[in-house]
Amino acid sequence: MSEAEAARPDSFVSSFFLEIRKRVRPEHFSTWFKNASLAEVTENDLVLSVESSFVRDWIQKKYMDVLLESSLSVDGKARKIRVSSDPEKFVSEDVVKEDFDHDPEPLPTPVPARGRVLGTPLNPSLTFDNFVVGLSNNLPYAAARAVAENPGRAYNPLFIHGSVGLGKTHLLQAVCHEVLKKGTISRIRYISCEDFINQFISGIQGGSLESFRDQYRNTEMLLIDDIHLLAHKERTQEEFFHTFNHLVNAGRQVVFSSDSPPQEIPTLKERLVSRFKSGLVGEIELPDLETRIAIVKRKARIRGTEFPNDVALFIAERVKTNIRELEGAVIEVIGYSTLNDGMPIDLELAARALKPILNTGTTSATASMQDIFRCVQKTFGVTLTEIQSKRRTQTISTARHVAMYLARNYTTHSLQEIGGYMGGKDHASVLYAVRKVEQKAREDPRFKEILQKVTADLLGGLL
Ligand code: ADP
Ligand code: MG
Repeated sequence: MSEAEAARPDSFVSSFFLEIRKRVRPEHFSTWFKNASLAEVTENDLVLSVESSFVRDWIQKKYMDVLLESSLSVDGKARKIRVSSDPEKFVSEDVVKEDFDHDPEPLPTPVPARGRVLGTPLNPSLTFDNFVVGLSNNLPYAAARAVAENPGRAYNPLFIHGSVGLGKTHLLQAVCHEVLKKGTISRIRYISCEDFINQFISGIQGGSLESFRDQYRNTEMLLIDDIHLLAHKERTQEEFFHTFNHLVNAGRQVVFSSDSPPQEIPTLKERLVSRFKSGLVGEIELPDLETRIAIVKRKARIRGTEFPNDVALFIAERVKTNIRELEGAVIEVIGYSTLNDGMPIDLELAARALKPILNTGTTSATASMQDIFRCVQKTFGVTLTEIQSKRRTQTISTARHVAMYLARNYTTHSLQEIGGYMGGKDHASVLYAVRKVEQKAREDPRFKEILQKVTADLLGGLL
């Protein structure tokens, strides 16, 4: 880019994403690039910033050519491309790319940048629209909405607490996005408590405490994420107390999130506790099953995919205590399907995709041998004794092979153990059976259908 162009990065950004769009299927674009932004563009380098290391790895595996070509097409520069999932580089002001979702045509002029939130960078996808509301979070959600609607007047301060991965950061950032959209307030500051503490410390050390104070006191709306980190930070608490009073007394909105209610933050000074409690304290609780299902479906839709109900239920039943992990599971399933040439997303695929995660976590998707025998007996009309016998009639062999296949895929038993259950087969026979079943499913659509049915039966019974 020339100096002049470097000064107008928007036009590069918009053209760059447009070029990517031309080269990638729409559903893949929305899965992998929807939340991407450009963290850095120079003559020689380009850093694409994405929301997770999983997405980063995926793009590195599949799309480096596309990125290089896209950059070349925009201005003929062959840049060194890097993909980063460093949250520091996750910038929020790429309005341009969002608009592409509605209008794939090139935009004639660069879209002017929206207002900005100062402090820790925002994630553009953490909006109210993307927040699923249920019984577990409707109070803090409504309060956050009210605050965005009427800053400084609804509840001040607003204090949202709940355990990790339940949407606190999402709500705080949604307030920022909403207020930005309305444009009624311009000096919004969203900051992680960690950044706040670090700024304060470097303010003290560098003798720039005054400018630190001014920055905060000039803010029209202040949101501090993870305020519980003030525990044991006596001097920062003191400083914070004054800033806080100043803002609230001036009618400026203040919003906090924390992993525990004010009175349970260790060593928090009593006057801060009572200040925090003087507005509205709302808790985000663990989401119920219905909300989890809705979240799974929403997260899939955001990535351009619809999950069938049984798949959403399968995931929601197994990942219960953390929405971040719920979202991780959705990404795994989509990734698994894409990796297998867009294989349709059904219960079997979901179970396979999530097997490594579910088996290592506290939840478990594993079937017992008993479940497997029950399903196989039902489908093939054979008895357990027959399965475990040495008889090789076609029905019995098929049933036995399917049982081994299911045991291999949906239990944690070793090949040897599985062989043991089948009446003393060795591990090679089990492997042979598994391959045979896979091959037959590829060649014979009718068999594949039966296999899917018995698998669904097995997994359905585990719900
Ligand atoms: P916390 O800050 O409480 O640890 P986050 O706000 O970072 O949690 O949420 C973790 C992940 O879960 C984020 O990707 C967020 O978008 C998602 N999430 C949390 N709650 C909801 C919800 N109600 N609807 C949709 N996504 C949610
Ligand atoms: Mg958070």
